[in-house]
Amino acid sequence: MSGKFNNQVIVVTGGNRGIGKAIVRAFAKEGGKVFFIFSKNMDAAETLVEQVRDEGFFCEMLKCNIGNEKECEHAVSSIIKQTGKIDVLINNAGITKDGIMLMQSSDDWKSVIDINFFGTYNITRQVILNMIKNRYGNIINISSVAGLYGVAGQTNYCSSKAAIIGFTKALSREIGGKKIRVNAIAPGYIETDMTDSIPNKDIIISNIPQKRYGKPEEVASVVLFLASEEASYINGTTIVVDGAYTA
Ligand code: NDP
Repeated sequence: MSGKFNNQVIVVTGGNRGIGKAIVRAFAKEGGKVFFIFSKNMDAAETLVEQVRDEGFFCEMLKCNIGNEKECEHAVSSIIKQTGKIDVLINNAGITKDGIMLMQSSDDWKSVIDINFFGTYNITRQVILNMIKNRYGNIINISSVAGLYGVAGQTNYCSSKAAIIGFTKALSREIGGKKIRVNAIAPGYIETDMTDSIPNKDIIISNIPQKRYGKPEEVASVVLFLASEEASYINGTTIVVDGAYTA
């Protein structure tokens, strides 16, 4: 079967649920050899691998806490041992621990930075060594509109997502000459477990010009575009996918 990502090795963090799951499915359908990382939810991971393989596509899962540097080193080297290369990396895994800053423990506050931001750094650092050697690669970091505009009760999350945008810009300058592109996506409200528990959904929706949350597939399609040759001169930028919420 031929697809846009035939023979490419794709790594997706946080691939078992939500936006990551839609990204895994979309790349697999386009012929990519998809390896996804998850941290806890083994059932969701196993179900996804089974579904994708039943459809006749390639999918492997790896359990790894992206906040732990050693685990990231191990996960990335085990993929490279099997494939020899990584063509596309999607840094998607993320968490929220919301609260008014002064009311939160510093451990809770920092855990969001550790996973969202250092997790992105931990995986990327391992992967780009291989991309530089191969002189090819595409990195797409999932930030958030919360990294562009502040949200009260999310100082940790907003900081982590703003840091990812700075990281994306600086890294694209460092390695852009080696045929590696680094871009980010800033989604608005997307229907996943992460947004399920947010109260006052009706009020939020009334402030979104498209009058609905986005679907994970609507982020995945932008990821695939950025990873494709059609986006060959897009580098170091952030694409907002939010139904005009922050327009
Ligand atoms: P979900 O909560 O649905 O899924 C989070 C994913 O991250 C899961 O696969 C989870 O794995 C994984 N994960 C969490 N912690 C770790 C860790 N320490 N190591 C490895 N994997 C981990 O989130 P979404 O799909 O909604 O969000 C995906 C990304 O998009 C996040 O970065 C989020 O910040 C961002 N985003 C989401 C928006 C939304 O409205 N949903 C809006 C803007 C940005 P497991 O199940 O094993 O815990």
